[in-house]
Amino acid sequence: MNTIQITGTAFLGADFVPETVDITISNGIIADISPARTKSESLILPAFFNAHTHIGDTVALDTRIDRPLAELVAPPDGLKHQILRETPEDRLISAMRSSMQYIRASGTTGFADFREGGRDGVSALSAAKISGIMPLIFGRDGGELLPDAAGFGLSSAHRRDEEREAADAARKAGKLVAVHAGEGGIKDIEPAFELQPDVIIHATHFRPEDIRRAADEDIAVVLCPRSNWLLGVTDSAKKPPVRELLDAGCRVFLGTDNVMFVSPDMLSECAFLMTAYKTTPEETLRMATGGFSLAGMTSGIEIGKPANLFVMEDAGLLSWSRSPLTTALTRLGRGAVTQVISP
Ligand SMILES: [Zn+2]
Repeated sequence: MNTIQITGTAFLGADFVPETVDITISNGIIADISPARTKSESLILPAFFNAHTHIGDTVALDTRIDRPLAELVAPPDGLKHQILRETPEDRLISAMRSSMQYIRASGTTGFADFREGGRDGVSALSAAKISGIMPLIFGRDGGELLPDAAGFGLSSAHRRDEEREAADAARKAGKLVAVHAGEGGIKDIEPAFELQPDVIIHATHFRPEDIRRAADEDIAVVLCPRSNWLLGVTDSAKKPPVRELLDAGCRVFLGTDNVMFVSPDMLSECAFLMTAYKTTPEETLRMATGGFSLAGMTSGIEIGKPANLFVMEDAGLLSWSRSPLTTALTRLGRGAVTQVISP
């Protein structure tokens, strides 16, 4: 039997209650959690799920934002698509692997990726897989029907027949349907809802009726606040309407969006969300871990669950902290992550 033990202040269960404990992991399962017998300066958090990325964009890392959003990222001829088309497959795979290592090293063990490039695009991400991190791949242009794809990821809805047909075919094949909507305005929101998606990405410009509809139809909403600010689609803490989405009972997850502009670092995303949108640390961590449900997994540190967590060193701050979870999410940063354990 393979058994490991870690000690620290862990955020336990669904409510992330901080307790200083010894956690025993046997064959990947949390076998025991008991009061710590030794002092520790570690923090133990449930692993993050980054609910929206485009990691193919790694090949265009830190491209200058010098033109309108559509000219940068919209298919088929936005700058990123031109760069992707010109990139040989081995370089694309190597770039995506670099981002996956970066993602894992910052405490994230799963991510939902919109993979461009049809079947080849999905196959490239499958080939790039590394151990310890699970990509949930949303393909397009036929890629969504490959066995390795978890779903169909539509760039935006325009009420075209081929969009509806692709969404229906994906659903029939047992896949999820996800679509960007409400990022730059309200025009594509209604057409997105008409596709009856499982997931809407952005919702930056959601109105009260859109929030109500997402809640009533149990459509998960993925927010990417740093991306929204960086790309200039919001300049207000009211957009996206984070508080209203949470109060309406929507399932709200957090993602980092295009790797070319935004680091896929969920600790930075959490810190930004808490700063700009004033979410509580518990709400923030719930949004940053809840996306595992898209993969049919539950998260959280509890006896009997698979160990899916990471350890941070506290830099001597924990003994002063009145909110260890705030300290973990806003003050320590990815450099403090010392260990990542995943199923
Ligand atoms: Zn996106």
